[in-house]
Amino acid sequence: MRKFHYIISLSILLVLLNQCKPTEEKNLLIQNATIIDGTGADRFVGSLRIKGSLIIDIGDLTVFDTDSIIDGTGMILSPGFIDTHSHHDGDTLRTVEAAISQGITTIIVGQDGFSRPSLSNYFDSLKTSPLSLNIASYVGHNTVRQKVMGNDFKREATIDEIEAMKKLIARDMQSGALGLSTGLEYDPGIYSNTQEVIEMAKVASQYGGRYISHMRSEDMYLEQSIDEILRVGKETNMPVQISHFKLARKGLWGKAAKILTILDSARSDGIDVTADIYPYQYWQSTMTVLFPKRDFDNRESAAFALSELTTPEGVIVNKFNANPIYEGLTLKEIADLRKEDAVTTFITLIKMSQETPGESIIAKSMDLEDIKTLSRWPHINLCSDGAPSGHPRGWGAFPRYLNMDTGESLETKIHKMTTQAAENMGIDSIGIIKEGYYADLLLFGIESFKDKATFKESTLKAEGLHKVIVSGKVVFQNKAPTMIYSGRVLKN
Ligand SMILES: [Zn+2]
Repeated sequence: MRKFHYIISLSILLVLLNQCKPTEEKNLLIQNATIIDGTGADRFVGSLRIKGSLIIDIGDLTVFDTDSIIDGTGMILSPGFIDTHSHHDGDTLRTVEAAISQGITTIIVGQDGFSRPSLSNYFDSLKTSPLSLNIASYVGHNTVRQKVMGNDFKREATIDEIEAMKKLIARDMQSGALGLSTGLEYDPGIYSNTQEVIEMAKVASQYGGRYISHMRSEDMYLEQSIDEILRVGKETNMPVQISHFKLARKGLWGKAAKILTILDSARSDGIDVTADIYPYQYWQSTMTVLFPKRDFDNRESAAFALSELTTPEGVIVNKFNANPIYEGLTLKEIADLRKEDAVTTFITLIKMSQETPGESIIAKSMDLEDIKTLSRWPHINLCSDGAPSGHPRGWGAFPRYLNMDTGESLETKIHKMTTQAAENMGIDSIGIIKEGYYADLLLFGIESFKDKATFKESTLKAEGLHKVIVSGKVVFQNKAPTMIYSGRVLKN
């Protein structure tokens, strides 16, 4: 009896020991997929092998015992999408499902001039608690201006304040920020002059950084705003990117090609200007951006906004803390409820939100043909400008562009969502299917990959995405996150 007991114990011990023995991790072999590599080159059918987090082999590959196989027959294999203007970091869950479920494997945050108070702390927290996708960040001008000037920001900064802001930018550049972002249509950056912006940008440039900007105006003063970003590019000699490029004023509709000639001629003068864009006619922001003169109680300005920049039917109130009953309604519907004209309602809502802050609107200001013309520009890349809730772009921007009839080939569209985006952000090692590059990959049905999110149901997941791989690990399959967190922090 005793001996028998001993034998049993020994065999349990052997089993346990065997389980502890390090088993060699298998390579991942994706077979027979239609590969679109991101460079714009024609698709081809082939296989791809991943070892650890890297792509190690592409072509007609022999299967080895060490391979774990994924069948890619009939599906497109592309690099993961790179979202160069994202607010998905507002997600409290590490899976960041809104992004990965639409094929985004890298998000670039710190946009519109707003970044984390300390990028060093933020990046450290991501090291111990990584996400399912990669993340990189800009340092925000609004954030440093707020920190230095506090509530006394409605003026130009003093020399001392500029020096203090420069130090904060240098600190975050040393922590790995990609460059400087501005949001010149928002407080407090709206009160800065171009010289201040140039001074800040030069600091980022000293660290090899770039400049990305939600420009001072996307409607009334679009042309002047383009002049401003080109001046920043010229005087700092750094690459400059226009965020979520749009022509958001009726008087500008149909002029996308003309605007692009300005950028092309700047490029031929040596200014490295690029842009990103999302494929929707509606934007999402605050009510106040519709008042470029900041005269929120002026009826004339409100009337202009509601006729030239958007319409009462085209404004959907997304968030309104002062009276949440209005959320989900258009401005026209709210005006009808209140039995008054839309201009009066608009002015009243702004007044209410000044007393009880917290508002956001989704408004229609763009022409579809302009969106298509801009998206065909060779130096533009896709972005979502999306968040986990609100505008449907948060869940659908990338597949929506894939399905939009822009006259571009699938190869070109994928290029704009991958390689071109990586280039515009100055990130190498991702965005191309190539040996030695990170295995951030998507497998999707060529006909079936479609966005489903709408303005009424903005968090509906896209369909037709078979697998999402980040750093060689499957992070999304069977329509759900796998709860694997293989995302990396990408630093300048
Ligand atoms: Zn923006």
